[in-house]
Amino acid sequence: MYMTAKAATFEQAEEQSWIPLPEGICPLCSQVFALELLHKPIASENTKSRDRTVQVIQVYHPHWLEEHGACTRCWESYREAGWTRGLIKINRR
Ligand SMILES: [Zn+2]
Repeated sequence: MYMTAKAATFEQAEEQSWIPLPEGICPLCSQVFALELLHKPIASENTKSRDRTVQVIQVYHPHWLEEHGACTRCWESYREAGWTRGLIKINRR
């Protein structure tokens, strides 16, 4: 009984995702995500760590801007790269 209820909600959720939910492509890995997911990891980061991660991403993707967004997986891997490498020398422009 519980299973049935769960299946019904899942189906509903799946149907809803076809309606307007805007989608975006992660510019870093080219996968499709809900637009919200491309901005949430950046928005929820603290300012200091965000600036740093943005810089790291721009080393690899010079045309990337914060407002282009990034999926959680990409964001986290670049954030970790920033911390572990002690942030390679990046010229602040
Ligand atoms: Zn990505």
